Amino acid sequence: MRYLLEIENLKVQYLTKQGAVHALDGVNLYLKPGEILGVAGETGSGKTTLALSILRLLPRNARIIDGKIIFDNINLLSLPIERMQTIRQERISLILQGTSKGLHPVIPSGWQVGEAIEYHEGLPPEEILESIRNIFREVELGTRAIISLPDELSVGMRQKVKIALAISTKPDLIIADEPFVGLDPPMQLLMVFLLKKLYEKYGFSMLIMSHNLGRMAEICDHMAIIYAGETLEYNTTYNVFNQPIHPYTKGLIGAIPRLKHIKRRLISMPGSPPSALNPPKGCKFWPRCPYAKDLCKEKRPPLVYVNGGLVACHFADELKDLSPWDFWGQETI
Ligand code: SF4
Repeated sequence: MRYLLEIENLKVQYLTKQGAVHALDGVNLYLKPGEILGVAGETGSGKTTLALSILRLLPRNARIIDGKIIFDNINLLSLPIERMQTIRQERISLILQGTSKGLHPVIPSGWQVGEAIEYHEGLPPEEILESIRNIFREVELGTRAIISLPDELSVGMRQKVKIALAISTKPDLIIADEPFVGLDPPMQLLMVFLLKKLYEKYGFSMLIMSHNLGRMAEICDHMAIIYAGETLEYNTTYNVFNQPIHPYTKGLIGAIPRLKHIKRRLISMPGSPPSALNPPKGCKFWPRCPYAKDLCKEKRPPLVYVNGGLVACHFADELKDLSPWDFWGQETI
């Protein structure tokens, strides 16, 4: 098996009173077994829709209109719902965005993890309790947290309970939607260490959706940059950070404070993401791109291979060697 998860040209629309909202409009992702892939994008770029699409948990007013989601050589979009439920329960876990989402407010945290263990392992009650204790130890929570309701725990502890739930079924893939949101920087760092430790011990693959590029750099092997529901760049984390090619990726990387660029001003891209109701024709980034030509306004750029990765820009070859500051023309301090 070359990839554990392969997503090709995924398109999802939400039907609203105002019309069809193009939440995903051509997402391509590739995750090898045992890898951590980061999906980076601004709020509203389609990260949560992507997570819900993989598990086929989209709301009723959403529909997948094109594309493939291949997991372990199975096209998830063509599976009967009963088999899909088994995949959700046994092979793919989802850590929902928001520190309380995904937790029942009036069931003690340990019991919620115990239910998942009981379903998955079919153990007798006394062994389930021992398994709960072990998992809580793994996620660095004390035994008191087992009998606590989620609201009695701190934000970081609740996030750890969600991680405990995610690993309790020993899945092949964990999807974490914004796992660092709502946490302060030291707690974010602890979460990175915890996820890495569990990843090394259990050997699952991970798909991390986040807008926090700094944290993703610390944990992801590959990264995909998505914008307005579309993959604009996919490469190793090293290449994305050291040789970003797409103008949008260059803007994102140039906006991160880094000691080695202390004399550079942080890049601030003009404009804002386009409306998902009425996206621009051609390249969706052209209204913000200083390099946009007539071709960009007419024709959507396909994903092409450049520098070992994929980039959706008509001028990727011309732009690939420009640093973020050379491209965006921001002067030094
Ligand atoms: Fe800019 Fe054109 Fe490339 Fe889009 S295709 S990012 S508008 S240069």
